[in-house]
Amino acid sequence: MKGSCPIRAGARTRPDALALTFAGRHWTYAEMDTEVGRWVAALRARGVGPGERVGVLSTNHVALAHLFFALGRVGAVLAPFNARLTPAELRPLVEDVAPRLLLALEPLRARLPDAEPLESFADAVGGPSPECVDLDDTSPRVILFTSGTTGRPKGAVITEGNFRASARCSAANLGAHPAPRWLGTLPLFHVGGLAMLTRTAYDGGCLVLRERFAVDDTNRALDEEGVTHASFVATTLEQVLEARGDRPVPASFRHSLIGGGPVPAPLLARARAAGLGPLQTYGLTEACSQVATERPDEADGLTAGRALPGLEVRVVGPSGEPLEVGAEGDIEVRGPTVMVGYLNRPEATHEALRDGWLRTKDVGRLDARGRLTVLSRRTDLILRGGENIYPAEVEKVLADHPSVREVAVVGVPDTRWGEVPVAFVVVRAGAGLPEELGSWCRGSLAGFKVPARFLAIDALPRNALGKVERTVLRERARGA
Ligand code: ATP
Repeated sequence: MKGSCPIRAGARTRPDALALTFAGRHWTYAEMDTEVGRWVAALRARGVGPGERVGVLSTNHVALAHLFFALGRVGAVLAPFNARLTPAELRPLVEDVAPRLLLALEPLRARLPDAEPLESFADAVGGPSPECVDLDDTSPRVILFTSGTTGRPKGAVITEGNFRASARCSAANLGAHPAPRWLGTLPLFHVGGLAMLTRTAYDGGCLVLRERFAVDDTNRALDEEGVTHASFVATTLEQVLEARGDRPVPASFRHSLIGGGPVPAPLLARARAAGLGPLQTYGLTEACSQVATERPDEADGLTAGRALPGLEVRVVGPSGEPLEVGAEGDIEVRGPTVMVGYLNRPEATHEALRDGWLRTKDVGRLDARGRLTVLSRRTDLILRGGENIYPAEVEKVLADHPSVREVAVVGVPDTRWGEVPVAFVVVRAGAGLPEELGSWCRGSLAGFKVPARFLAIDALPRNALGKVERTVLRERARGA
């Protein structure tokens, strides 16, 4: 199937509507279209053609958005690398991608010595390329490396069709808005950021793009820039709410998507009270972001909602058999947002995709209304003497202790039990590690779930998205 570039479509139907704002500047759809045309000309001048790959190292920047849409028009593939990676971490990813062209934002070029400057790439070219090819929905569009919290990063190959479907399914759940304005603080080298960029363009909305998440800047954007939608992970939401105090967001704000990891229900309740219209969402790179999201009319923060309209979610047992309502098992998803496979990894692809179903490696259950509860990643699940422990459940209990600011629970090998849970605790200012944490847990949890050790830590190690790096903690717990 083919479709047109959403920027070109917007330039035809609503040329003067705002498409993007960044660093105090703004671009209408007509201006974006012209700018993207200039980038198309620059790419063509460098011989970048259909199927070829362009690697890029960049934090959020308007140039990255222009490049992304321009590559779609020439049928080429964007491979954005995580801007926090070191040269040694980047090298294997670049080798994997084998790019025709390598670009990097000027301040990051030292980390990719072969890269050309991204910001000025299109400057040398005279005029724009007016031509706009139809986008092929089935050809690779982006290679997105998973964060690697479960091993060496794998490049998920995502198509324009995946992005288009993701935008459609998301809008079907959120409900129509005449001019959505998304606050873009998620990184564009991550599926959450890219899906927001494409979703906004397909919906004819405006992306209020920020270089990165910063709490005061986010609150300023919510208060002063007419933002209608935003996306947060639990930690960024917590920071935003803490800084706002009782100040509600303007009434024009509609919804925020909260996901990327377990989201505590009390946090969602606070966000609801502040007018952030929070909807818990569950998604992953391999399914082009959202898989399940709460419906606005039934959001209670207790589940990650139902499969988006157009997608199917099921929970299966060890041999792949679908389980009955309420049973815990592996989450699988099927539908038009599911990736084609992993770059250069046929075995991993075969392992992940069976009969169109994507095996997410997450454990969860569905209720009678089809709402999904995500319990844990399969690899984070702690198996203590044959009993399953979901870290999120233990973390939730510990997080309620008045001296605990943040907590993460990981499994470490144990000669007697096979594995035991260990809790890393960040205490609130002025508090020491409370001695009664064990008995605090025993008040609400079965004995086998109570952590064998409690270790104080200054801050939890987190990746660019704010997700806790559990591999780092597991190693630290082993050495402690
Ligand atoms: P890697 O796959 O390399 O380990 P990652 O976990 O960061 O990296 P992403 O695709 O960025 O990969 O994140 C998707 C994962 O985030 C899901 O598979 C799931 O484990 C977790 N997740 C997302 N939303 C939720 C949610 N609402 N509740 C619990 N976990 C969630």
